[in-house]
Amino acid sequence: FKFLGTNYSRFYSTNVIGGGGGGGARRLEGKVALITGSASGLGKATAHQFVEQGAQVIIADIDANGGSQVAIELGPAAHFVQCDVADESQIEEAVNFAINHHGKLDIMYNNAGIIGPVGSPSITDLDLNEFDRVMRINVRGMVAGIKHAARVMIPLGSGSILCTSSICGLMGGFGPHQYTISKFTIPGIVKSMASELCRAGVRINCISPGPIATPMSLAGVRPFFPDLNQEQMVAIVNGFSELAGAKCEEIDVAQAALYLASDEAKYITGHNLIVDGGLTSFKNLAF
Ligand code: NAD
Repeated sequence: FKFLGTNYSRFYSTNVIGGGGGGGARRLEGKVALITGSASGLGKATAHQFVEQGAQVIIADIDANGGSQVAIELGPAAHFVQCDVADESQIEEAVNFAINHHGKLDIMYNNAGIIGPVGSPSITDLDLNEFDRVMRINVRGMVAGIKHAARVMIPLGSGSILCTSSICGLMGGFGPHQYTISKFTIPGIVKSMASELCRAGVRINCISPGPIATPMSLAGVRPFFPDLNQEQMVAIVNGFSELAGAKCEEIDVAQAALYLASDEAKYITGHNLIVDGGLTSFKNLAF
């Protein structure tokens, strides 16, 4: 990758969002949040951020060990609920847990996602069963999460729903077809839902992160670099986002989610917030 290792940091301000913008007040005090896919990666970082900002958080993930561990790390402000987002009844139960345990749900972050088969499979080799599996989690799971959040938020007349898309939902060729297609749908889902939910006082937005070295993205690039060790793989993923000047980190997405979840964003709905440091602003990414 011809730009890998080049240092563009002089073009980039790291002073993006300070910690003390709320003048000491915690920005999610008293809020109840449910985050899917929060046993790892972006969801886990966001769970930490939300708890730090005063929220009660439900860690909803298919991974019981990882999810329980995150809940232990976060202490009494967090609970783990095992949930496969491909199964609507499990999402329904996770949302019901929020209502039964906390009496409300203020923030629903539909973040769980998978990439499916990786490498560079041609459309002529696409396994449609795998395509269905990715759609079931990344698209149907997202819609089911929105449906059940809306079910409990509409009667309350308030709520903030977030979804994780990706820069792969902005351009072709950055991820495998099934993943790219699934992520392109999410801003559309958000627009469709926002047009209904705005009059009910419920906001819905999505976040499109750039490449961040999590288990999912590392698995995504592994077939291209079979001989590299873990540290080298992390450098490869960071190298993609560093094309824009600095590496994209979990905390960058967590801060964006915090803003959209909070009342500071009370007039923002139907929006796709790109968190890529400028990567998709380039005319040519030189792949
Ligand atoms: P990750 O692998 O670190 O975390 C994904 C989490 O989702 C895991 O805890 C996993 O157990 C959980 N999960 C998977 N299938 C599930 C299911 N059926 N039901 C419930 N939970 C399930 O990956 P990540 O990078 O943190 O990914 C989180 C989201 O961010 C995904 O939607 C992904 O597409 C998106 N994203 C990631 C990147 C990146 O570069 N890492 C960039 C853009 C968007």
